[in-house]
Amino acid sequence: MTELPLWPVIAIDGPSASGKGSVAERVAAVFGFHYLDSGALYRLLAYAAHTQSVSWSDAAKLADIVSAMDIKFEGGEAFLNGVHVSPHIRTEHMGKGASEVAVHPEVRTALLQTQRNFRKMPGLVGDGRDIGSVIFPDAALKVFLTAGVETRAQRRYDQLIQRGDTADYDTILEDLRQRDLRDTQRASAPLKQLPDAMLVDTTKMNIAQAVDMIVDAFKKDHGNYIKNALSH
Ligand code: C5P
Repeated sequence: MTELPLWPVIAIDGPSASGKGSVAERVAAVFGFHYLDSGALYRLLAYAAHTQSVSWSDAAKLADIVSAMDIKFEGGEAFLNGVHVSPHIRTEHMGKGASEVAVHPEVRTALLQTQRNFRKMPGLVGDGRDIGSVIFPDAALKVFLTAGVETRAQRRYDQLIQRGDTADYDTILEDLRQRDLRDTQRASAPLKQLPDAMLVDTTKMNIAQAVDMIVDAFKKDHGNYIKNALSH
């Protein structure tokens, strides 16, 4: 089997509601890279399990569901077995479900190759919790994107209100605290800031500033790669 070229990866990990998704998508657009929203995979699994009445604690059945899932992303929208499901997976309930199914090592192993398959020419920006530690430990640039929990809760609240949903700030804050705990304390691939990751704290920074920091860091270290890729 011929070795595939290892296209560069920018790994952006961090806690829930830190703005990873928006930042990662824009960084990917700047370089013309593919984008992997790994959290969406866990949300899709939580949703698929929910529709099949499978418990989020049943690791073996969840791993079976992963192997039968046909997942597609198009224009930022998620499709499960050909059906558009974005509105169903972007709920607080499925966010909670995602963090519950994500604790099982069986589930994480089942989703490993799915994530690695996103690494294609000319490169990939992936966001999640373990992109730099487990999925792409050889990432060209690793970023730990975070913000204070109150700031994240306020942003999530504003997002829900803007979308026309009802929301309660205190409930969101408590939920985020619990999700942070689950994500950082679990035995399998816990969220942590890697020693070789660049810290981007967006508590007092907007999305554009965070994007600029990451784009500059990648250009600084990989200027030649970018020049070559763009000239082809
Ligand atoms: O990023 P998002 O909030 O959509 O992720 C939902 C949940 O999926 C997270 O709280 C986390 O528990 C889980 N997750 C994970 N590993 C990833 C991405 C998400 O465990 N790489």
